[in-house]
Amino acid sequence: MPKTLAFAAASPTSPLAMMPIPRREPGAGDVEIEITHCGVCHSDLHFARNEWGMSAYPCVPGHEIIGRITRVGAGVSRFKPGDTVGVGCLVGSCRTCGPCREHLENYCEGGNTFTYNAPDKHGTAPMTFGGYSTSMVVTQDFVLRVDARLDPARAAPLLCAGITTYSPLRHWGVGPGQRVGVVGLGGLGHMGVKLARAMGAEVVLFTTSPGKAEDARRLGAHQVVISRDETQMAAQAGSLHFILNTVAASHDLNPFMNALRLNGTMCLVGAPEHPHPPLQVFPVIFKRRSLAGSLIGGLRETQEMLDFCAAKGIGADIELIPMQKINEAYERMLRSDVKYRFVIDMASLKRELK
Ligand code: NAP
Ligand code: ZN
Ligand code: ZN
Repeated sequence: MPKTLAFAAASPTSPLAMMPIPRREPGAGDVEIEITHCGVCHSDLHFARNEWGMSAYPCVPGHEIIGRITRVGAGVSRFKPGDTVGVGCLVGSCRTCGPCREHLENYCEGGNTFTYNAPDKHGTAPMTFGGYSTSMVVTQDFVLRVDARLDPARAAPLLCAGITTYSPLRHWGVGPGQRVGVVGLGGLGHMGVKLARAMGAEVVLFTTSPGKAEDARRLGAHQVVISRDETQMAAQAGSLHFILNTVAASHDLNPFMNALRLNGTMCLVGAPEHPHPPLQVFPVIFKRRSLAGSLIGGLRETQEMLDFCAAKGIGADIELIPMQKINEAYERMLRSDVKYRFVIDMASLKRELK
């Protein structure tokens, strides 16, 4: 079995630490990937600390994976050794249910396999292990092509933060002539700002961090609103066609719902540990507003998003860290002290193998 080193949480309260893990030998339809970069998503922290109450241990997070193909199975047609590729939040799905047939593997009803913390259908380990590791083996159908124009480190966050924001922006038809709000300037939010701007919308960024205003404008926001300032929030009332809410903590949704126009929608992608305070019904009824949610994206749309980013020159704004700094990175992410995504340079972990 290939030798793979990973960083894992052994329990909800233990810091991540080095651990060897098993990876399967590539089967006929599989590719083996030497991981070069892995983004650090807030979901990794939610899982490592069991904040959603569904974690299994040991837990190896990481679903913003970029790497190089080292081996391919006999039946692999789409990739060859040396190719730069990506893996996101999914490594399998039933492929036969309605959503799968519509390329919406993210909404698979027959049981999809998340990249980490999901029952491992190959039986290599009880649960799947993610990208905080030196290598992985994935069926070719869940592997994405990464255009040479994309910088691999800046492309890693596209595999979750990119697709999670791209998919709802596309689904709700964001484009020219629309005023679009993005709530929270973190990993997801900063991609939401870049993508909504690239799609031609007028972008309003809502933040709790006044110090991020200048960055938000540089990233593409036309306007910045400090969401804890009631006067600034009231000035937005009834003005937005669509809001993408990426906030990772429980907060009052009502001032944002109030900022929607007639028929406007706020889509939640942030998935906090604790519920949001109750929603007021009358403001929703009186302007036929909608509250929605969205989960990552399917494989076809993820490829479309990567190609869109390559064509438009879009990558994440990142801080490259060695694997050994992951626990510190989690604490900084909790303080919103990251501009705007940590990406692990996996060469740092490979050095431990020598
Ligand atoms: P992140 O980098 O930590 O960004 C979250 C942002 O939320 C922060 O930068 C901050 O922005 C804002 N925020 C934090 N605490 C807040 C509070 N108490 N009140 C208001 N705003 C607050 O996290 P991320 O990686 O972007 O992930 C965001 C959320 O999306 C997480 O819950 C994650 O699990 C979830 N997620 C969902 C999907 C999906 O498919 N739906 C996919 C990936 C991630 P400001 O400083 O600008 O206020
Ligand atoms: Zn994620
Ligand atoms: Zn399915």
